Amino acid sequence: MQAAEHVTSPATARPVVDNFRLAALHRYHILDTPACEDFSFLTELAARLCNVPYAFVSLVDADRVWVKACTGMQLGQLPRNDSYCSLAVLGTPDLEIPDLQGDPRTAHLPLTVTSPFMRRYSSVALMSSDGFAIGALCVLDTKPGYLDRQQRAMLVKLAHQVMALIELRASEKTLAATVRELEQLATTDELTGLHNRRSLLHRLRFETARAKRFRAPVSAVMVDLDYFKRINDEFGHAAGDQVLAAIGQLVRDHVREIDVAGRYGGEELCVVLPNTALDGAMHFAESLRLRIAAQTHEIGPRMLAVTASFGVGTFDHFDVADAESLLRQADAALYRAKRGGRNRVEGPSTERL
Ligand code: GH3
Ligand code: MG
Ligand code: MG
Repeated sequence: MQAAEHVTSPATARPVVDNFRLAALHRYHILDTPACEDFSFLTELAARLCNVPYAFVSLVDADRVWVKACTGMQLGQLPRNDSYCSLAVLGTPDLEIPDLQGDPRTAHLPLTVTSPFMRRYSSVALMSSDGFAIGALCVLDTKPGYLDRQQRAMLVKLAHQVMALIELRASEKTLAATVRELEQLATTDELTGLHNRRSLLHRLRFETARAKRFRAPVSAVMVDLDYFKRINDEFGHAAGDQVLAAIGQLVRDHVREIDVAGRYGGEELCVVLPNTALDGAMHFAESLRLRIAAQTHEIGPRMLAVTASFGVGTFDHFDVADAESLLRQADAALYRAKRGGRNRVEGPSTERL
């Protein structure tokens, strides 16, 4: 014990490969994830099969050892140099320390010198698929001793199961992220970043069905850029694209989280406003009209301003009772806005109201 006071634990001597090892660990994105019964079941099994009170799944991070699962005592994390498991990732995959108090590497460590006064440690390293020891499955006891051959063989098998579970969780995460990315690609219009037509119509049908069911209002605002052909003709298609992209960004910034803004086609956009009656939709359209008109677009040496016309439709449970009639109403209002001189907002025809 006294000798231990002057010992520099080999756990502090980081091998050169530690950075690669840490990269392997971090690729699994398991650190600081919530407790999970699948892992606890494996530590429980390890403790039982090895006939000891304590078992841990530990992951050795840069400066700490983080415990994914434990049996016998609650442990969150330890400083790396205070943990037995930091030794488990240094050398051979199997580590056996039959008397922690008598071993200069561990005699001074907190779990040895304070309650529960651990005496014995056995571990199997958790090996990443690219061959790095990222942590350990370990069992401990407050009595000295070591694992017999059969127990060690079982611990090796359980460590493989722990690693398989870590791999599985990482694959599930990657898969979920890929699905999210694909969903995003499938529903987004590349140029404007708005919903594409298919996604817009899908969400419009969903919102009108919901409005019908809950007898809530829903509105749709059709937007068509004014004289857009001229921009293409005068400045080229790329300039037209640049303007469309900037207006797409402006619309995205202007809508609420629950609104659905999409590219209906060409330079025509549509914004679905759930839980919004006519007044609110007219107000929204007017404010978007002003913002679009105030936006300037730098096309080569020129600064351009573009305006848009707006048609507002509102679900009224009578004439307008489905997505198609809502769009027809908004479209008819848009037509009136164009005919009335453009750069303006028109609501549903007063004959209907
Ligand atoms: P207005 O709506 O005010 O009646 O006039 P407009 O010139 O905008 O009329 P129209 O709807 O007939 O023409 C729309 C033009 O928008 C035609 C097309 O060249 C252009 N356009 C549609 N989609 C795109 C696109 O993705 N990129 C570019 N650059 N132009 C597009
Ligand atoms: Mg137009
Ligand atoms: Mg058009």
